[in-house]
Amino acid sequence: MGVNNIVALEMESTKAAKQKQYRIDNADAIKESKKKYRANNADTIKATMKQYRIDHKDALAAYRIDNKDAFAAYNREYAVKNKEKEAARDAQRIHCDACECEVNRSSKSKHSKTKKHLDSIAMIQNESPH
Ligand SMILES: [Zn+2]
Repeated sequence: MGVNNIVALEMESTKAAKQKQYRIDNADAIKESKKKYRANNADTIKATMKQYRIDHKDALAAYRIDNKDAFAAYNREYAVKNKEKEAARDAQRIHCDACECEVNRSSKSKHSKTKKHLDSIAMIQNESPH
């Protein structure tokens, strides 16, 4: 290796060290800037991620199967950690526009299959001619 190459390598490592230091010194500003970018480009990011999931559908499905146990463990841990949060969410009251009644968030799916709800929907559809 020639002297010039060594000098070039040293310059590279100095540059990398400086960049690393910059990232440490400006961690908050960088974080803030990234946050701003994500907020300003939310739609683009969302679309890109959606396209990624479509393009890599098979690989992602395979990954889920390969890491089935890890996913299950994560979900169990999440449920334990967020027990209260989930309970509070489930207890939220949701207004059903068709029946003009309040239902628990956790029972919303069940409510939408009840006779009362289906009758209300049918009544609304009959009232407003198409
Ligand atoms: Zn209803």
